Amino acid sequence: MMIHNRLIHVLYAVITTALTTLLLSTTVFAQAPATYRQLPITIEGYAKPFPPVHIISNLYYVGTYDLAVYLITTSNGHILINTGVNNSTAPIKANIEALGFKFSDIKLLLGTHGHWDHVAAMAEIKRMTGAPMMMHEDDAELLETGGGYDFRFPQGRGAIYEPIKVDRRLKDGDTIRQGDVELTIHHHPGHTKGSSSFTYTTQENGRPYQVLIINMGTINPGVNVGFMPGFPKITDAYATTLTKQKQMRPDVWVSSHAGHFNMHDKYKPGDAYDPNRFVDPAGYLAKVERYEKLYLEQLQKDRATAKPSN
Ligand SMILES: [Zn+2]
Ligand SMILES: [Zn+2]
Repeated sequence: MMIHNRLIHVLYAVITTALTTLLLSTTVFAQAPATYRQLPITIEGYAKPFPPVHIISNLYYVGTYDLAVYLITTSNGHILINTGVNNSTAPIKANIEALGFKFSDIKLLLGTHGHWDHVAAMAEIKRMTGAPMMMHEDDAELLETGGGYDFRFPQGRGAIYEPIKVDRRLKDGDTIRQGDVELTIHHHPGHTKGSSSFTYTTQENGRPYQVLIINMGTINPGVNVGFMPGFPKITDAYATTLTKQKQMRPDVWVSSHAGHFNMHDKYKPGDAYDPNRFVDPAGYLAKVERYEKLYLEQLQKDRATAKPSN
């Protein structure tokens, strides 16, 4: 009886050690490399899955309920613009596969800006697909430090997502070609230093459509648009960006957040594909003007309440 008990104890010890090792190794594997601090997800729409949306022609929304991720299919693999928060690889992959496309066919990675809610899963997707990452040069450092280099935190904040190696640093007006698709990058700083939008022309039923994937000039909490020591040109950056955005004339426009282009008013899951669903030039101008108004109101408030000391 005594021997039997000891044997059970030994077996138990062996099994628990093996299980612990297994658990530890899976944890390390799943989160590798664990050199960043994940922010808690406090906005439900960031993580909530949403079925893929066929926007127009070769453009698809494959993100979560609010975090826009775009797939552009080309004659030679796919372009992926943005990810979502840290754990968004699985829902993005599931959406791409639900459309009948292969995740492994992603050949090029882009981003509208370097905040964690748009690029936190990028390093993982880059590792899985081997696709190069291209980003506007003014947000490259943000990506390569995992969000640590951020003008709102001039003292540094440490990595909050896995750092992403930028393979090509883009400038305003650069063209990016993949297969039969050619995108143009538009530098729209303000929200971040390197915030960017992308345009291209696509065809549907023999008709050309101007497509704009825009990063709107929204303002994060804690930002003083009149004076930011970490971004001395912030006031002019917003003003110039808003002026440029008001001059753009897209047929179809989408943005970094579903809420920025009112996607959930324009589309409900199950709605049939309609190439004109997201054709909305008047709505575009109204939205840019709304963000301009918010910027001007905040500028007036910030200048009145927070004056620089020198
Ligand atoms: Zn942002
Ligand atoms: Zn965002």
